[in-house]
Amino acid sequence: MPKPVIPVAVARRGLAIPPLAREPGDGPPVDTRGRGLRDLRISVTDRCNFRCTYCMPREVFDADYQFLPHAELLSFEEIVRVARAFHGLGIAKIRLTGGEPLLRRGIEDLVRMLHEAMPGVDLTLTTNGTALKQKARALYAAGLRRVTVSLDSLDDATFRAMNDADFPVAKVLEAIDCAAAEGLAPVKVNMVVRRGTNDHQVVDMARHFRGTGHIVRFIEFMDVGATNGWRMDDVIPSAEVVRRIGEAFPCEPVNPNHFGEVARRWRYQDGAGEFGIISSVTQAFCSSCNRARLSTDGSIYTCLFAREGYDLKSLIRAGAGDAELARAIAAVWQGRDDRYSEIRTAETARARKVEMSFIGG
Ligand code: SAM
Ligand code: SF4
Ligand code: SF4
Repeated sequence: MPKPVIPVAVARRGLAIPPLAREPGDGPPVDTRGRGLRDLRISVTDRCNFRCTYCMPREVFDADYQFLPHAELLSFEEIVRVARAFHGLGIAKIRLTGGEPLLRRGIEDLVRMLHEAMPGVDLTLTTNGTALKQKARALYAAGLRRVTVSLDSLDDATFRAMNDADFPVAKVLEAIDCAAAEGLAPVKVNMVVRRGTNDHQVVDMARHFRGTGHIVRFIEFMDVGATNGWRMDDVIPSAEVVRRIGEAFPCEPVNPNHFGEVARRWRYQDGAGEFGIISSVTQAFCSSCNRARLSTDGSIYTCLFAREGYDLKSLIRAGAGDAELARAIAAVWQGRDDRYSEIRTAETARARKVEMSFIGG
């Protein structure tokens, strides 16, 4: 029997780190379904200045909502330590997210620290764009080269209906252009498509971004968390999105950039660029899922739809060394069995799950 990596008592919150099945020295860890570890998403804050109805509905995330106190957040030094441990286990890409990552004070310092520690890693960030214009230059100077900006509509009223905040579309578009001008190009633009709310904007979004070099990714509305009132009826299947776009602008599929790429790529036949679809509801991609998530408070989640994470922060704050950290992460990954989207039912969709703003989208 393999020995537990750490005493269970150390992992006080969340799930205890499981025993290590195989020494990480034997090669990069592989989970119980043969999936490697390639992509790490780090939530740097659980706070946001938007209240997107599909992510942080205002009825729940209201003035009384208890966000994490600062002491519970991983510090930048702790984040870099964890990221380096993941890197040693095969991570090729890191995405900073949240909550709204640009709200974390000094985010550009974290970008610089991560870039200097792991210059070869593909470092990127997902933002709602509200502070991007002010931050784009500093982020680029710190080593960021790519950014994803979320934008659910080109129409102010529809945008407001999605994000429940009064922020003009024009300013997000300006931030996208500004980011590209600073070198953070091509910009990816995430649009969550929700039936009856913004699906009438799909073709307009495609039209607007065709020929700009920016790549829109149309995302199926997902049952993340337990507060967004998800119903299957509100999901527009990606096949429908492709059909609608294809009727306006003939398009064809493109091969993925790499194994496990989340977005399926499509290109316009007239050469005006490409768009992506993320179909985690209607065409689950669990079999190639190589993503781990580090929550704002320092737990590892091995699935976007998990209920609990593995508490790494207690381990770090109890003085664990780098090798011990790497062994703990490897142990978690080796025990991973997740495939939520393949087995989703109405019942699982209603079940308690961790909120996306906490573990990072
Ligand atoms: N605040 C940043 C933003 O909005 O870009 C980063 C965090 S956000 C959780 C990351 C991505 O998750 C965004 O593109 C957002 O649209 C997407 N997202 C959030 N809730 C979702 C849901 N229920 N279904 C599909 N995508 C969702
Ligand atoms: Fe905030 Fe992003 Fe969630 Fe919208 S999707 S509430 S911008 S974290
Ligand atoms: Fe990965 Fe979980 Fe999403 Fe499946 S449901 S693709 S395992 S995050």
